[in-house]
Amino acid sequence: MGKVAKSIAEVVTNGLCIGCGLCEAVTHGRVRMVMTDTGALRPTPADAFEAEEEKRLLAACPGVAVEPRPMEAPRNDLVWGGYSSLAYAWAGDPELRFRAATGGVLSALAVHLLKSRQVDFVLQVEADPKAPMRSRWTLSETPEAASAAAGSRYGPVAPLAGLMAALERGQPFALVAKPCDLSAVHRLSKVDERVDRLCRFRLVLVCGGQSRLGKSRDLLQDYGLSEDEVTLFRYRGHGNPGVTRVETRDGRAFEKTYREMWEDEAGWQLESRCKLCPDALGEAADIAALDVWPDASPSGEDAGFNGIVVRSAAGEALVASAVAAGDLVLGEALTAAELTAFQPHQLRKKQALKARTEGLAQAGMPLLAAPGLRLDALAAAAAPESQARERDGALLRARQGRFSEPLPGEGGET
Ligand SMILES: Cc1cc2nc3c(=O)[nH]c(=O)nc-3n(C[C@H](O)[C@H](O)[C@H](O)COP(=O)(O)OP(=O)(O)OC[C@H]3O[C@@H](n4cnc5c(N)ncnc54)[C@H](O)[C@@H]3O)c2cc1C
Ligand code: SF4
Ligand code: SF4
Repeated sequence: MGKVAKSIAEVVTNGLCIGCGLCEAVTHGRVRMVMTDTGALRPTPADAFEAEEEKRLLAACPGVAVEPRPMEAPRNDLVWGGYSSLAYAWAGDPELRFRAATGGVLSALAVHLLKSRQVDFVLQVEADPKAPMRSRWTLSETPEAASAAAGSRYGPVAPLAGLMAALERGQPFALVAKPCDLSAVHRLSKVDERVDRLCRFRLVLVCGGQSRLGKSRDLLQDYGLSEDEVTLFRYRGHGNPGVTRVETRDGRAFEKTYREMWEDEAGWQLESRCKLCPDALGEAADIAALDVWPDASPSGEDAGFNGIVVRSAAGEALVASAVAAGDLVLGEALTAAELTAFQPHQLRKKQALKARTEGLAQAGMPLLAAPGLRLDALAAAAAPESQARERDGALLRARQGRFSEPLPGEGGET
């Protein structure tokens, strides 16, 4: 393992910041998450932390290290990590199941936690009502609010910018976020005892990567729209997968199918950090939810089915309680091999990471530490030619500066 970043500025300038928002939370908003002109949320300024703040941030930042949460799971899979059960699942409420990204599992569990008063609120994200193409964090205090936040937000969002507001309430809460966000929360728990005491349930979406805002802007450009005309920007849902739909103030509506939106991978504009992601399957969560289309490709619309990976005793208890209340429906059990067949892109990336890391190390870049994430064993199962290609490709891209970013200035767009 080579060197990791020694400062948040180094995280950002080496393309390792995913914009999780913890920098804003730890500084109580003195450093803000600002949209750069490349369409990414970055802590701004990224080089003005107090020593104690930066120490805390480096202990948790998902641009420095990522690790699973130890949960003594009874089963272990090389790709999916520790788990206790795998199954199909969907929301018990048909309206929520229809509206949500996939089968509404994450929303159904959030709703159930609030209805059954197991938590006082849920930290999650939603479309920004003032700028619907963008997303923001929110503390949902009612089942209705958690239900309204259903849906996948594929653009930049900083869920952990709300983490201090959540912890400072001193009440039990749940968190719904991406795997990188949850790893940061787990690592923060080692330096902030409130995290494990108050953040009782951690729910995660399996993640193929976060697009920069340019991906959404390109869609508006296709329709000749400006952002201030937009009143609704829904990436998917209202069916599974549902269409991407944009509505405007003057009553027009525009739609693209999921396939039209995502078929050209060159246009995804993924964050650099996602190409190096050692855990996109949520190994720090109690429950992870995913899509279950063969080969990650929907063949049409369906009623909405998630796969779930239950990783902890708290996760099992939550599933049992949600099923008993009718908030969640469990389908047939799944195997880890079936999950991998639903997510072949995740396996390919995991197998490539050791080689990519070696390429970056050769270029002198700081690396992401990934203890407990089995990258050596995953690489051992991959073809040597593909490893050499990944290593050389990462080295070349690093030398071309394609992982590098300027330090964000105060001049960024908000
Ligand atoms: C960027 C991104 C990439 C994804 N890639 C994959 C993939 O490769 N494979 C796969 O199986 N699934 C992927 N998904 C997940 C998939 O789209 C569904 O979100 C997931 O199956 C859960 O469905 P659901 O119906 O239970 O979610 P819902 O019930 O609709 O709930 C979604 C929950 O996730 C939260 N949320 C939405 N977007 C974000 C975000 N960007 N950051 C943090 N929290 C968010 C919402 O606040 C809500 O609580 C991705 C989602 C996103 C946002
Ligand atoms: S990933 Fe999060 S903690 Fe790390 S630099 Fe970016 S905003 Fe800060
Ligand atoms: S791919 Fe990894 S780094 Fe990128 S958003 Fe998803 S979990 Fe975070």
